[in-house]
Amino acid sequence: MNDMNLSAGFVPHLAPSALAMVPFVSVQDMMRLVNEAGIETVLRDLARYIEADFRRWPEFDKTPRVASHSPEGVIELMPTADTESYGFKYVNGHPKNMREGYQTVTAFGVLSSVANGYPQLLTEMTILTALRTAATSALVAKHLAPEGSETMAMIGNGAQCEFQTLAFRALLGLNRVRLYDTDAAATAKAVRNLTARGVEVIACRSAEEAVEGAQIITTCTADKRNATILTDNMVGAGVHINAIGGDCPGKTELHADILARASTFVEYPPQTRIEGEIQQMAPDHPVTEFWQVLTGAAPGRQDARQITLFDSVGFAIEDFSALRYVLDRVRAGAPHVLLDMLADPDDPRDLFGMLERAKG
Ligand code: NAD
Repeated sequence: MNDMNLSAGFVPHLAPSALAMVPFVSVQDMMRLVNEAGIETVLRDLARYIEADFRRWPEFDKTPRVASHSPEGVIELMPTADTESYGFKYVNGHPKNMREGYQTVTAFGVLSSVANGYPQLLTEMTILTALRTAATSALVAKHLAPEGSETMAMIGNGAQCEFQTLAFRALLGLNRVRLYDTDAAATAKAVRNLTARGVEVIACRSAEEAVEGAQIITTCTADKRNATILTDNMVGAGVHINAIGGDCPGKTELHADILARASTFVEYPPQTRIEGEIQQMAPDHPVTEFWQVLTGAAPGRQDARQITLFDSVGFAIEDFSALRYVLDRVRAGAPHVLLDMLADPDDPRDLFGMLERAKG
């Protein structure tokens, strides 16, 4: 409550004032939440929330994210809603940031009540995006990767790398990763972090070397151009490709010949056709919406020699699921502070009076 209108004969009531304080989960709070629960538990829980929401996909309002492009990067808003909640994420993608000491991707997000429009949660989403992207990748791979996959190649060893690797361990039991990055310092960082977690890590000198013997190939590089991280000859039969880094117009990672051979699975086709690897293909290039694999409406992997490709760009429903998860954790006592974010006059029409009374 932020009104002092106790003398005006208006009876203050408790519910709106409680609603007017918005829980805020800072980066520090998020780190405590994850470290107290354990990152692999959080990744599995997030995958469960994402799967539950993907299974009720038709219930959501969906739109491609709203992107504002500049020569350096992109700033995006990612909204979605069901009948109860509205969520959005603010996120950027600036590949040059890392060289200047900033994150390539930073984010925050809001979850609100559809019933009255009041925000219910404001949270950091830089760590949460890494977690939800990794949980989504592993959830998809659980349904598409070849049976008994044991080794992943991880090309691009930046901020997302360890999250991706640990999600594959948490959801698929995969514990061997072959790392490659054009910057040896990034690989050395990932070797340190993942070895400390008990992951079997092989540092490689080229992308060709990294994909040797891997059943799953994750590409997670950041470069604002049509790059060719994988060429056709690097991808054998019976492989699952988890393509994370191609997520903007003019920013892709795979040679088009791979797309011609692979069965492509996507989040939301209207967004992926603008941003994903398939921007290189005809507008009617065949794709399967992953949520339909979960519900049984479409087949996943059909034979051992098939090449499956998750053309990931990141969709708003994954953030909505992540926001739902964090709000549930906050309600169960996870660290947060309450923000006085919403005006709360005792008489809802006397906003001006509240301002006047605040003079003291
Ligand atoms: P980052 O800048 O921290 O790391 C990127 C790494 O890629 C760097 O270490 C860089 O040296 C390496 N790299 C660049 N070109 C390379 C090449 N040709 N071969 C090998 N390595 C190369 O970025 P990040 O936060 O880890 O994000 C990685 C990518 O994933 C970005 O493009 C980002 O936009 C994307 N992303 C996608 C989603 C999604 O939902 N699909 C979510 C988050 C991030």
